[in-house]
Amino acid sequence: MNQPSEPIQDSDMSQCGECGLHYRDAQKAAQCELWCKAHHTCNVDITKDSEEQRLWSNSHLQK
Ligand SMILES: [Zn+2]
Repeated sequence: MNQPSEPIQDSDMSQCGECGLHYRDAQKAAQCELWCKAHHTCNVDITKDSEEQRLWSNSHLQK
């Protein structure tokens, strides 16, 4: 899995305690954590809103 090289700012982010992805929206992080706990996998509909995914998509598009 490709990890973005930019550091994630923890301070204003909410983190999913299960998969460790960061979200600007605390509700999204909670949603992700519920999903991760229940399914032990990531829901792309949720993780697409994560900071990691956003940074990765940006760097991918800016080739
Ligand atoms: Zn998660």
